[in-house]
Parts: sequence; structure tokens; C-alpha cells
Amino acid sequence: MSSEEILREIAAEVSVCTKCGLCKGRTKAVPGEGPPNARILFIGEGPGYHEDKQGRPFVGPAGQFLDELLQSINLKRSDVFITNVVKCRPPDNRDPLPEEINACNDYLDRQIAAIKPLVIVTLGRYSMAKFFGTAKISAIHGKAQKKDGYICMAMYHPAAGLHQASLKETIRQDFKKLPVVLAEAERLAAEGKLGAASAPAARPQDEPPQQLSLF
Ligand code: URA
Ligand code: SF4
Repeated sequence: MSSEEILREIAAEVSVCTKCGLCKGRTKAVPGEGPPNARILFIGEGPGYHEDKQGRPFVGPAGQFLDELLQSINLKRSDVFITNVVKCRPPDNRDPLPEEINACNDYLDRQIAAIKPLVIVTLGRYSMAKFFGTAKISAIHGKAQKKDGYICMAMYHPAAGLHQASLKETIRQDFKKLPVVLAEAERLAAEGKLGAASAPAARPQDEPPQQLSLF
């Protein structure tokens, strides 16, 4: 199956999924969207009000800010893949629960495996936890690290930037690093140093991630 077909199949499964309680409150599930061969994958938290209505990720105010951030580095939304750790809206936009994130994790893992992005950007603490464990976002945001065969970078959630002007500027600055990070990732990939094959088979959870020399 091609990446496109796999992603379409995942989206179809997500749209009727009942693996966790969030299925009860959803209008539309939000599997995520973007080109199947995207070089950059953004992972947010979960759908909000607008996303739940439209079945598309980041289409509300946080999404408008994300569009602006992409534009600032000459990327269009259609250049990147955007998804979330949970595909259905938590009631009243509450934080997703650990069991909901666990229930939904398989879809995300399959999306990552199909897209094989060079760079994964986590937006907010829930997607950060998937790659960076208990690290503090204030300490690691904007720093590219090689993780699981991908270049990963944690960023503050765009919605946090909407509520706090200083964070907005931090997010803007972190975004500006992405073109260089992407170029570095492309170089590593060309040398065969990225991708699942380059990931250590069993890395202890607490082993510090490899920090790229460039950053
Ligand atoms: N916030 C998220 O984390 N994801 C969305 O899709 C929209 C807002
Ligand atoms: Fe299924 Fe994920 Fe939606 Fe839960 S949040 S019902 S696991 S698609």
C-alpha cells in the first residue's frame, strides 16, 4: 500500500473509532491532513470547537496563528502534515486523559510510519511527552534533537502564544529555526543517518537524546 492509501485507511478508521470515550462527544473526528510525503509533521494536542465541526486540524484561532508562522518561513499549509495526539475533541477543550492518548496512539504511530517525515514538531506538552518524556518545555523548546530516527523539536502550543505575548514571540523565534533544521535533516537523511533504520533498537527511556551539533 502507498503512504497515501495507508493514511486514507487510518482516516477512515478514525472517523468511526470507538476506542475511547471521546467518540461520544465528537461531531467529526479529525485524523489530520497534509501531503503523504511531507517532510515536516506537526503534532498538536486535540481538536477544538472549530476542528470538531469541520473535521480538519488547526482551523480555529490557533490554526490562524499556525498559518502565519508557516508563512513566516515560506511554507504553506499544504507543504506540511498536521495532526494531533487525540483525534476527537475532548469535552469543553479539557486536556486529553492518559487513557485517551494511549487509545489513540496507534493511529499516530501509523501516520508517522507512513509519512516518514524528516522533522517532527510537537506543539504543546502532550505531543512533547511522546518524544521527550518528562522534559520541561521551557528547557527544550526550539532545540532540535535526534529521536527515534527523526529530528524532533518541541514548541509551545500556538494557543499558548495567543494568550501570552511573550510566548508568541518565543514561538515565532523557534519557528524561524525550522528551515535550517530541515536542511540539516535532509543532509543527515542523504547520509543514511535518519529514518527508522538509524534508530537504536532499544534505547533506555532515560538515556539523554542526541543533540545535533548544529544547534
Ligand atoms: N489545537 C490543537 O492542539 N489541535 C488542533 O487541531 C486545534 C487546536
Ligand atoms: Fe478513537 Fe482516538 Fe477518537 Fe478516542 S480520540 S475515539 S481513540 S479516534
